[in-house]
Amino acid sequence: MTDNITGKVLVITGASSGMGAATARDLAAQGAKVVLGARRADRLEALVSEITAAGGEAIAITTDVTKRADVQNLVDKTVETFGRVDVLFNNAGLMPLSPLESLRVDEWDQMIDVNMKGTLYGIAAALPYMKAQKSGQIINVSSVYGHITVATGAVYCATKHAVRSISEGLRQEVKDYNIRVTTISPGAVATELTSHITEPGLAEAVTDAVNNIGVPASTMSRMVAFAISQPDDLTVNEILFRPTVQP
Ligand code: NDP
Repeated sequence: MTDNITGKVLVITGASSGMGAATARDLAAQGAKVVLGARRADRLEALVSEITAAGGEAIAITTDVTKRADVQNLVDKTVETFGRVDVLFNNAGLMPLSPLESLRVDEWDQMIDVNMKGTLYGIAAALPYMKAQKSGQIINVSSVYGHITVATGAVYCATKHAVRSISEGLRQEVKDYNIRVTTISPGAVATELTSHITEPGLAEAVTDAVNNIGVPASTMSRMVAFAISQPDDLTVNEILFRPTVQP
C-alpha cells in the first residue's frame, strides 16, 4: 500500500521560513519531491542543501507571488524538472496588522497582493497542468482569522476569508477533474509572521502573544501530510487547528 506522499511533486510558496520551510523539510523526509518558492533566494538555497544532504529531493526557484509571471515560472519549471505537479501548497502570506484608521494603505495592498492574488496566481499556474493530468491537489492556507474578524485585522482577515471562498469555489468546479482542494486554517504558530507589523506597540504585543502559546511550524507539516496522504477518492476539505489554550 502506498502512503500517497512518496514520489509526489510538491510546490511550496513561502518556503523560505516558518510553515513553508517546515513543510518542505518534513515532506521531503517522507519522500516528496519539493519545489521551494519565495523571494529570499539565500534561504531557499540553504534549505535545498539541507534537504539534499539528508537524502531528499528539492529545488529552489526564486518567486515573488505578487508577480504572475514568477508564479507561472515556478510551476512551469517544476513540470520541466519533475514531469508533473501533484500538489500546490499556496502558503505565502503576510500579516502586517494595524487599525484601519492608521491608513497603512500600502500594507493593505501588500496583503491583498500576497495573500489573495498570490493564491489565485498559484491556482492559475497549476490548474491547466492538473486538468491535463486528471489529478492534483491545491492546498490553500487561510487562518483562524479566516473564520473570525478582529480589530487591527480587518484587511488580513478579509484576505483569509477570501482564501476560504476561493477554495470552496474551486473545489466545486474542479472535482470532476479529480483535483482535490484543501484549506488549512492555522491558529497561533511561532514563525516570523509578526515581524512585518509596523504599527507602534502592536508588533511586540502580537509577537509576545504568539510566542507564548504558538505551536511549532512543523505542526503544519503534519496537517499537510494528513491531507495529502488520504486515498485519491477522498478530499480533506478543511483543517482548522490552534493551540489548545488559544481563545
Ligand atoms: P513566515 O513569515 O515565517 O513565512 C511567510 C512566507 O511567505 C515566507 O517564506 C515569505 O518568504 C513568504 N512570502 C511573503 N511575501 C511573499 C511574496 N511576495 N512572494 C513570495 N513569498 C512571499 O510566516 P508563517 O510561516 O507563519 O506563514 C505561512 C502562512 O500561514 C501565511 O499565509 C500566514 O498568513 C499563515 N498563517 C500563519 C499563522 C501564524 O500564527 N504563524 C496563523 C494563521 C495563518 P520571502 O519573504 O522570502 O518571500
